[in-house]
Formats: sequence, C-alpha cells, structure tokens
Amino acid sequence: MIKITLPDGSVKEFEQGTTPMEVAKSISEGLARNVISAKFNNTTVETTTPLKSDGSLILYTWNDKEGKTAFWHSTSHIVAQALEELYPGVKLTIGPAIDNGFYYDVDLPEGVISEKDFPAIEKKALEIARGKHDYKLREVSKADALKFYKDQGNEYKVELIENLEDGTITFCDHDTFTDLCRGGHIPNTGIVKAIKILSVAGAYWRGNENNAQLTRVYGISFPKQKELTEYLELLEEAKKRDHRKLGKELELFTFSQKVGQGLPLWLPKGAALRERLEQFLKKAQKKAGYEMVVTPHIGQKELYVTSGHYEKYGADSFQPIHTPKEDEEFLLKPMNCPHHCEIYNSKPFSYRELPKRFAEFGTVYRYEQSGELHGLTRVRGFTQDDAHIFCTPDQLDEEFKNVIDLSLYVLGSLGFENFTAQVSVRDLDNPDKYIGSVENWEKAEQAIINAAKEKGLDYIIEAGEAAFYGPKLDFMVKDALGRQWQLGTIQVDYNLPERFDLTYKGSDNELHRPVMIHRAPFGSMERFIALLLEHTGGNFPLWLTPEQAIILPVSEKHEIYAQKVLKSLENNEIRALIDNRNETIGKKIREAEMSKVPFMLIVGESDEAANTVSVRKHGGEDLGAISLTTFTDLVNTEINSTLKSFKD
Ligand SMILES: [Zn+2]
Ligand SMILES: [Zn+2]
Repeated sequence: MIKITLPDGSVKEFEQGTTPMEVAKSISEGLARNVISAKFNNTTVETTTPLKSDGSLILYTWNDKEGKTAFWHSTSHIVAQALEELYPGVKLTIGPAIDNGFYYDVDLPEGVISEKDFPAIEKKALEIARGKHDYKLREVSKADALKFYKDQGNEYKVELIENLEDGTITFCDHDTFTDLCRGGHIPNTGIVKAIKILSVAGAYWRGNENNAQLTRVYGISFPKQKELTEYLELLEEAKKRDHRKLGKELELFTFSQKVGQGLPLWLPKGAALRERLEQFLKKAQKKAGYEMVVTPHIGQKELYVTSGHYEKYGADSFQPIHTPKEDEEFLLKPMNCPHHCEIYNSKPFSYRELPKRFAEFGTVYRYEQSGELHGLTRVRGFTQDDAHIFCTPDQLDEEFKNVIDLSLYVLGSLGFENFTAQVSVRDLDNPDKYIGSVENWEKAEQAIINAAKEKGLDYIIEAGEAAFYGPKLDFMVKDALGRQWQLGTIQVDYNLPERFDLTYKGSDNELHRPVMIHRAPFGSMERFIALLLEHTGGNFPLWLTPEQAIILPVSEKHEIYAQKVLKSLENNEIRALIDNRNETIGKKIREAEMSKVPFMLIVGESDEAANTVSVRKHGGEDLGAISLTTFTDLVNTEINSTLKSFKD
C-alpha cells in the first residue's frame, strides 16, 4: 500500500500502482469527470501514471492554470497530427502550451500556411479530437527514439533526443500519431471540443537566428464551444482597447524611429495626464511622510557593481559612457535604489529619525531586444514612481501597512476594484538560497501577512517565490477584460543595506542595519498608463481625463458666448476646449464622441438667451439645458465620488 497526501492535508492509503484518476474516482465521480491533469510530488504526471510510492498528489481541472496547460499542450499534439495529415512531409519540432493557448513550430516542406488555411486545420483537428483517443505515454530507449525520427528524416527531433539521457525518454501516442514528449496530458482528445488557429509567425529553431526558419502555428482550445466564442469576443474587445491604438487616437504619446525604438515621446495631452497622475501620488505621499529626492540618469559603473545590478543589467545592457579626459565609466541607470542608498548614506541616522522615506519619479533605462518591445508596456526608458523606505526591523510592520494603504488608495482612485494580493515567501526547504537572518525573515514574512490580513486583502501565499534578498507583496489586478496584471510591488530588502553598509545608531548606541522597502504603486508611468488605457478603453476617470468638457457652438453666431462659457469653466478649474470649426453640429458631436471627452456642452440661441449650456454626456445621455453653476457642481460631485483625499 502507498500513502497519498491530498492538498487538504488528508492522507489516504491506496494499492501501489493506483493512478491519479483512480484516486479522483475514490473521492467522487464528479471530480473524476473533471480531472484532466495531476502533479505528484511536485512533478507533472499523466492521470494514468501508476503511483509507486508515498507522496503528495494534486488533481487539476480546467479551472486550474495547470489544467489549462495540460489541455492546451495536449491540443498541440492534435494540431500537429492535423498538420502532418494536411501537409505531408512536414517536420514537427516543439509544441508547448503558453499563457493563452499553445503553439507548434513546424518545418514545412514547401509553401506557407496562411489565414485562409486555418479553417481546414481546425476542421481536421476537431475530427481527430472527436475520435476520443487516449493519450498514452510510453518509455522508449534512446536508440529506438533516434531511429524513429531518423527514419522520418526529422533532424530537429533527432537533435532534441541527442541531448536527452537514455532512460528518460518518452513518446506520447494518440490515434495514429506519435510525438516525443515528456508528458503532462489530459486523459483523451475528446475533452477538446473547440479549437481555433489564431495566427502564424516565423520562428527560428531554438530561437537562434542562424538556425532554420520555422513556421509557428498559434492556437487555442476549450472544453466548450461557448468558451471559445467568449474568448474571441474578448480578443476583439482587446484589439479595440489596445493602448497603442488608443494612445494615437487620443494624442497621448508617439514613437519616432529617429529618436529610437522603445523610447516613448509624450505629447502635450499625454504629458499633462502624466503630470496629473504624478501630482496625485505626490500629494498622497507627502501626507504619508515621504520626502522627494532627485538623482541623475547615469551613475558610475562601480555604483552598480556595489548594488549587484551590474551583474543583472550590465554586460547585456546599453554600452557604458566613457568621459573623454578622466577615463571614468558611467552606465545609464537601470534602477533608482543604489542612488537612494547613497542619499541615505549622506549622513548618520539614529533610530529616532527612522523611518526615512525617499521618493522620486526616477527615469531608468534598460536594454530590451527590439523584438521584445511593445507599446508602452515594454520600453527601453521609463519612469518609476519609486520610493525606498529605510526603517528598523521593528518598524517594518507599520511601514508595510502604510504602503498597503497607499497602494489601495491609488487603485481605488483609478477604478481598479478587482484584485488580489500575492505574498511571496521563502522556500523553507532551501534556506541557503536567502540572505539575511532567519529571525529577520520570519519577522518580515509575518509583518507582510499580518498587514495583508489587517487590511482585509484577499491574499494568497506563494512559498518559494520570494527573491533571495527578501519577501514581497504584489497586487494582482484584473482589468475590465479580466486580464491579470501585476501592479504595485512592495519588496522587503536585506541585501542592499548590507552591500551599501547602511547603518543607524540604535537605542543601545550601537550601529545596526536598517531594513529597506522598495515600492512603486504605479510600477512605471508608462506601463500604468497603458494598463489604464486598456482598462478604461480611454474613458479615464473624470479627474484625470485630458479634457473634461468640449464646448460646441451651434453656429459662428454663438462663438462669443462659447468663449464666455470657456472662461467660466477655466475659472472653476474645469479643463475644457471649444470646437469652433465651421462644421455641422452633428459632425462636431460625432467627433467629440470619438475623442471620449466626458461632457459636450452645446450652445445655441436658447442657451445664450437663458445663460445655460445643453449638456450631453459621452455615450449619448442628454442632461438638457442647465446653468454653468449646476454643471460645475455636477463635475465636482463626480470627481469627489472617485477621488478622495488620502487619509482624511
Ligand atoms: Zn505532449
Ligand atoms: Zn528599489
């Protein structure tokens, strides 16, 4: 008999050789119907793998990330079989699951696969899936595996097998199809009910541009047709909300090949929006006891060697800058932290003066390959809303709570309501991986968990996910399309205070090491604005939006009155502009609707006579003719309902 430990901690005895599926059946038939993948002692296994020893077993369904991975990877086998049947002589290489679906890299004997071929591939793949073929993993000797692919003339699989140890090689069979694979499949092909080929792209064998160019076929699959339909609708909506498209339409930012790729240029409206975001955070930070500092965009190489960033960002990054006469070597700043450590080091502190909280909207530069660049989310230069808190170990608890308060304030003011917190702690089985004393780690982890609990956060604890230098908390924010983004990391750090020899004088008159907290509620201005654009579809909260109102005179006759309205709005700090082009009012309304200005103020004969504006909200709601005072109150009420002041 073997002892199987389940995730709830319960231990059950089974006969040796029992499979995960049989364990599922012993729990309930319902569970067994839904189980599609399993992990035994932290290793992915098939649901049909005989379990031979004691161990812990996790069963996954479609609702788990691991379940989806197995589902999508298994579908890649089906699509590979379809490709073999449709393109005789095609050479298969690798076909992993990815975040949303899977791909398979293939070497086509001739021609190309294009969008018009997708329906035929989908049809063939679905036909295969409907055959309800079991996935069967079997061990093969290295010699047999090599022979199998040499006979096919598939040099890619031969190369993969040559790098594997004999005794560890497995093939997966389903229907008439065989693939080299280490496992992680769903029970049978019949579970896959909907398959969509999404796109094709070029890809080099093993990602090396000196190697053969392959065709990468991207796809996704679902256990229900309805889920595929919903997914495709979501993709459509995401395209409409793409921040690169919206950023252009709303004239927020641009890129110039002359300036260089990955270096965003902020246009006046975008710069003003950024400025409002910065002011919003600066105001809250001031209340929270932060002090602003300013540091340069470059630093001596030595600085980053001391901090350890040179190891991470140095060699593969931008080339160093050498001064002509003194032979000094500078690097573009990849992180603000080393500079802030030196600010802390500029004078001695006693425990009474801590915590010190240094904040800076600091622009940093990191080299990204051109293929990795993406709008504002992957850039080469960006500004972090950075801050570093230096405190005593005893203050960590309080400081962590304060940072959570600030992060929640930021998320709330910007309309993010759906989020969880992820607390990353040590892997207790690998204590050597971490620097800093066990006592401090325990204190810090407990401080983070207590803070999350006390602030009522919906949190999960991820063991082994902490950085080697300290535990952290991330906010996992879901946007309006249900996509998850990591935002507002709060990171405890025992490493940099050590490397920079930071100290404070304790009540015992001895020198002690402060603890450092890195935090950035936005992350970076660039990525945050991209996320905000996609979350709101460009309909920013009223307090933040570039123009809050657009005045549309019905004809030239009303231009003077329109100017008067504008002046009055400006006096009340409402951002507005006039569309006084010689166009029809219908056209002006349509274009104002496109530019997403929240309020249109239409002014004509009767408005001028009665000293009113006819208000139409973005989206079409008609508020009728109202006085300017009423309109101003309306705007302020809406702003005050989303933008509260911090800790009032
Ligand atoms: Zn496989
Ligand atoms: Zn930092």
